[in-house]
Amino acid sequence: MNLEKRKKRKKRRTSRKIIKRRVLVLVVIVILSCLIFHNNKAKKVLPANAENSLKKSVATPKKVTLKPKLKPPTADFYRLIYKSDGHKIAYLSFDDGPSANNTPVILKTLDKYNIKATFFIVGNMAIKYPDLVKKELAAGHSIGNHSYSHNYNYIYSNTNTFMSDINKCDTILKSILGSNFSTKLVRFPGGSFGGKLKPFRESLNSAGYNYVDWNDLTGDAEGQDIPVSKLLSNLKKNTEGKDHVVILMHDFFTKSTTAQALPQVIEYLKSQKYSFKTLN
Ligand SMILES: [Zn+2]
Repeated sequence: MNLEKRKKRKKRRTSRKIIKRRVLVLVVIVILSCLIFHNNKAKKVLPANAENSLKKSVATPKKVTLKPKLKPPTADFYRLIYKSDGHKIAYLSFDDGPSANNTPVILKTLDKYNIKATFFIVGNMAIKYPDLVKKELAAGHSIGNHSYSHNYNYIYSNTNTFMSDINKCDTILKSILGSNFSTKLVRFPGGSFGGKLKPFRESLNSAGYNYVDWNDLTGDAEGQDIPVSKLLSNLKKNTEGKDHVVILMHDFFTKSTTAQALPQVIEYLKSQKYSFKTLN
């Protein structure tokens, strides 16, 4: 009987031990599973977070530098004109007109070659020859503002007189070409160069105007009745090596040799594979 009892006890102990072991194994399995699960989860989340934070740390300063600054409109305009695009482009421009003698000759030549140019009009000349301004626009040329008075001492005395002179020319152009006509294109009399004109450039840009100077010229402002041959040699010298040329010329009444030289100017540019565009 005793033996029987012992055997039973032993059996119970053994089965308890087995149960204990099984429970222990189960607990270990559960703990291990939990650990593996958390580890995997962490592995999945952490790199993504790390990547995001990396992205942020890289992207944030980039965003700051790439954030478009408030640029003057002229900066974009210049990029448009001068940005190299593998083409040779010539922008013919005529300042200080219109004039009764030279503007019609220039218009006729441009028409003959079917080329469009840009005329920077002086307001007090436009009043004298409104029909020529209308003719320029009707022929598809671009019209720019070259101030009303073209009087350096007056317009560059301060930015207020400058802006009022520019606006006065604008009013004249609208009165001739209709209230729907609008040009935001200005050429500074004498050019916009130099530190002294910085406030004038800023005033103009603040008022929404673009201005454009030139990177090529025939030199017709350097004297009166400059021979055609000299204008052409100047042009060739100043055009060399440039893909985009904004060419300064004048249709003022004293610039007859400019009008005479124009066919040869065009022929030369064509021979150099330039195509023609207007500034606007
Ligand atoms: Zn001028």
